[in-house]
This record gives sequence, C-alpha cells and structure tokens, in this order.
Amino acid sequence: MRKTLVAVSVGACVVAIGGPVWLGRTPDAPVGAAADPRPIHVTEVPQTAPPAAATTRPPFDRGARSTTDPTSIWVVVNKTHPITPSDFRPELDIVRGYQVAPPAARPLGRLLDASDRRGLGLKIASAFRSYGYQQGVHAATAAARGEAEADLRSARAGYSEHQTGLAVDLITPDDPGCDFEACFARTPAGRWLARNAWRWGFVVRYQPDTTAITGYQPEPWHLRYVGRPLARELRVTDVRTLEEFFGVAGGDYPS
Ligand SMILES: [Zn+2]
Repeated sequence: MRKTLVAVSVGACVVAIGGPVWLGRTPDAPVGAAADPRPIHVTEVPQTAPPAAATTRPPFDRGARSTTDPTSIWVVVNKTHPITPSDFRPELDIVRGYQVAPPAARPLGRLLDASDRRGLGLKIASAFRSYGYQQGVHAATAAARGEAEADLRSARAGYSEHQTGLAVDLITPDDPGCDFEACFARTPAGRWLARNAWRWGFVVRYQPDTTAITGYQPEPWHLRYVGRPLARELRVTDVRTLEEFFGVAGGDYPS
C-alpha cells in the first residue's frame, strides 16, 4: 500500500500519514476534468457541502462492508475467491435492456446518460451473467483461443464478477474495432471512463500492469460498481485494485 508524504495531482490534496488533507478544494474536481460539472453527488454521498477550509478527512473504514458476501458492493471476486454460493443469483434491475444488481442500476444509468450528453454514446455489451451463461462464455473462449488464453480473457463459471450483477462491459460505437480490445483505452470513450467512472461509483477493475494481482489482462471496458465512497477513495489513494486495497489474495487459479 503506498502511503507516502507526497503531493498528488488530484484536486489540491496532499496525502499525508494518517489520511489526506484537503486544502480548500473538493475531491470531486480532479485536475483536467473541470469541464464535467454535472455528475456530482449521485449515489450514497451525503449532500453536504465540502469543507471550505483545510480539514482532515476521517480514515476510510475498510471494514464497513463485507468483501465476501456476493450481495455486498465491496465483494472481491477473483480466481482465488469464487462467488459463494457458486450458483448465486442477485436481484436484478434492468438498465437499457441489461440486467444489473439494484445498487448499480441507477448509477449506471446516470453514467450512460452523462456519456450521451458528451456525445460518447457508450453502450452496454454485457452485464449480469449467470453461472450457466459464464460456463458457455468460458467454453467458447477456450475453444477459440485455448484454455490458457481463455483463463486470461474470461472467468471460469463461479469466478466472474459479472455473476454479482455489479460488473458491466461497455463499448463505443465510434471504434467498434476496439470492442473488448486493449485499444478501447485509447478511444475518447475509454479515456473518459478512466477519468470519470468513479464519479458514479465505478472502477476500471483490470488496469495495466496489475495482471499478477487481479489475474486478468487489462480490460479498460470492464467496469465494476463499488459505490462512490470507495471509488473515490481508490482514486485519492491511487490504489488500482480491490485486492491491494482490502489485502485480499488474487492472481491465478490455485493449481
Ligand atoms: Zn467484463
């Protein structure tokens, strides 16, 4: 966990031992994203005004929610932590024709609305996937690319975040050749997501250079809902994986 006495380029925050100190600027206004004035306070964040003067933020409570309960928005699902029970099926709401778990539904709709307002037109390509469906996805990937590649590109049934209903894959109509490809990260939509998804409580779950930690290659199109407080905390502390933040093991399947 990085925690050093350095200034970071998020808002006017100085990260210090004991927690970040805010110097009169809300963390909701990252440098370079000032042209995005609308999506503030969209989920669980209280509608209180940010402190006007320098103040110390209380430490983030990492034990506030379960990381093992599949109904928890902080659940960590990876190749060493399958969903329990394996046939878990969440309650499901519908967003633009796709099934997602209720906590993620409204934030996802608002993220897509914001994308539309900016002319990005992000679309959902995949959301909730049942145990049985994931079996089919993994088998198809294995048939096309081999087992080893399939394990890097798709989860085995019972190990996919998509089964929680909290994960979505997004595509952009501007660059269809980059659907589910690394180049999605370089599209305007991909860049916008990387900078702004946290505002609605989503994180880009599989980022570059984290394969050994998450078990997956970078997937700039795969968003995971964790709620805005955690998404913001990950951004402020520059922690890129849930595994590192919660101290949960990840990486490859146990052999
Ligand atoms: Zn995905």
